[in-house]
Amino acid sequence: MKLAVFSAKSYDRKYLDEVRAARFPDLCTIEHHAFALSSETVSLAQGCGAVCAFVNDTLDARVLTTLHGYGIRAILLRCAGFNHIDLAAAESLGLFVANVPAYSPEAVAEFAIALTQTLNRKTHRAYNRVREGNFNIEGLLGRTLHGKTVGIVGLGRIGMATARIFNGFGCRLLAHDPVVDSDTFRQYGTLVDLDTLLQESHIVSLHCPLTESTRHLINEKTLARMRPGAMLVNTSRGGLIKTEAVIQALKTHVLGGLALDVYEAEGELFYNDHSGEIIEDDVLMRLMTFHNVLLCGHQAFFTSEALTEIADVTLSNLSDFVARRSCKNSLVSEGHVVVPADKEPVRL
Ligand code: NAD
Repeated sequence: MKLAVFSAKSYDRKYLDEVRAARFPDLCTIEHHAFALSSETVSLAQGCGAVCAFVNDTLDARVLTTLHGYGIRAILLRCAGFNHIDLAAAESLGLFVANVPAYSPEAVAEFAIALTQTLNRKTHRAYNRVREGNFNIEGLLGRTLHGKTVGIVGLGRIGMATARIFNGFGCRLLAHDPVVDSDTFRQYGTLVDLDTLLQESHIVSLHCPLTESTRHLINEKTLARMRPGAMLVNTSRGGLIKTEAVIQALKTHVLGGLALDVYEAEGELFYNDHSGEIIEDDVLMRLMTFHNVLLCGHQAFFTSEALTEIADVTLSNLSDFVARRSCKNSLVSEGHVVVPADKEPVRL
């Protein structure tokens, strides 16, 4: 069996090839493609039995139907989120789809904290100043985290890991999650409704999935409920935030800081070098003009431990499919979507 890997960067090649050679030598051969999967590049998968895709690959009904026509029966997502695949189309085509639900949640949680503290203590600005021999600390004033209220939206694996770390800073913790019960969270803080969380938190950190009901969870109305000057951190999915609304909230000082690892229109830009081009996304460019906005290119997961885990689970999922074993990470299997109701995907 040949596995076509799309959006393959040097690190994807390295970790997938190493794990394949060490743990799954007889499972498949791997064809890496630097291109993202789309209706323009899908023909590269011809002759393969399975496709491996990442967060900004296109897996809409059209692409899935073409892949199915090539005889491909397995789609392996080497990521946790699955808002970018049309699971209903995969179901009707009888495709097997699996993801990597948990690869070092601590990697993402630690990055959320890194963003928070960089923005809060302005170390990104200090770094540039000091390199130019400017040791003036005017404008670098931050706030002590100890005793501040942090609101965690989405108390799954990453949200809980983030709560544990903020707890270590001595923060007061609030969380909102429609599924998790308060017993699980009691040792760290209190479960509250979203409105209370927004009103009371100095820092709001988003860790829920992107679904129909969470798209633009942060919008004009919810921003108006936030504590004035609060910081918003998003390491989850860009679509959770209505970007135009946060720009307005930054302009009016309602929002005191915004730290993003994800952006709702990131698909066109992220993971590629556009430094020699004119970037046409005016919303993103406006966002980047604020001194109190910190933006990274979807790298919260990016640790060597997480990449090893991603490669290992991706190939284990393929191994389960090939051996016709039940796969604990399947999202669509034997013609049925098996996603829990609270994780219903956004339809493309
Ligand atoms: P998870 O499934 O373990 O937890 C998600 C939690 O969100 C669940 O407890 C669920 O009940 C809750 N939730 C659902 N709807 C909600 C709502 N409306 N309000 C509040 N909570 C809600 O997922 P996880 O592993 O913790 O990952 C969280 C998200 O992080 C993923 O969906 C993914 O999009 C994102 N992620 C980002 C990166 C990155 O590199 N930036 C890496 C991995 C995952």
